[in-house]
Amino acid sequence: MTKICAWCNKKMPFTGEDKSAKITHGICADCAERVFKSSHPHTIREFIDKIDAPIIVIQNDTTIAAANKKANNMLKAEPGNKTGNALECSCADLPGGCGKTIHCKACTIRSTILKTRKTGKSYSNIKSYQNIHTPEGTKQKTITIATEKVWDTILVRVDELNEETVDKPTEVKNAPWSTEDS
Ligand SMILES: [Zn+2]
Repeated sequence: MTKICAWCNKKMPFTGEDKSAKITHGICADCAERVFKSSHPHTIREFIDKIDAPIIVIQNDTTIAAANKKANNMLKAEPGNKTGNALECSCADLPGGCGKTIHCKACTIRSTILKTRKTGKSYSNIKSYQNIHTPEGTKQKTITIATEKVWDTILVRVDELNEETVDKPTEVKNAPWSTEDS
């Protein structure tokens, strides 16, 4: 059994399920390395557009370097945005911004990205609960992500951004970012 690389169309030797490649498993290792080693934003964007899922590319801390079309339809994933800005996380509005507030130490998305960079391990089915700005106010949403490190780059696949509101009124109301007068 052989697979075809979605990037170069070469046959990929089938060596069993590559459990380390959570996101780029449809693309051969040579192509993945070449694209991300070059760090050329246009090449990277072209590459992630071939992946049939929303993908954001992180090259520094949690700053977005590139995003594919599916991710752009879902998030504010402009290059230079932090993941918190992309998700419209309410913590990203606090002094210091995404990554610098006291809440950020407990952020599953941030810690998973940093862990992936440090260890090189891939993660999948990571659920995070974030307070997200919506037109109807701040709501808690569930976000499910997978991560993979390629060269110096972290790919984040957004598998689920649950639009359904989880009722969590007291915590949101008493949160330090609440703008309500007391
Ligand atoms: Zn290839």
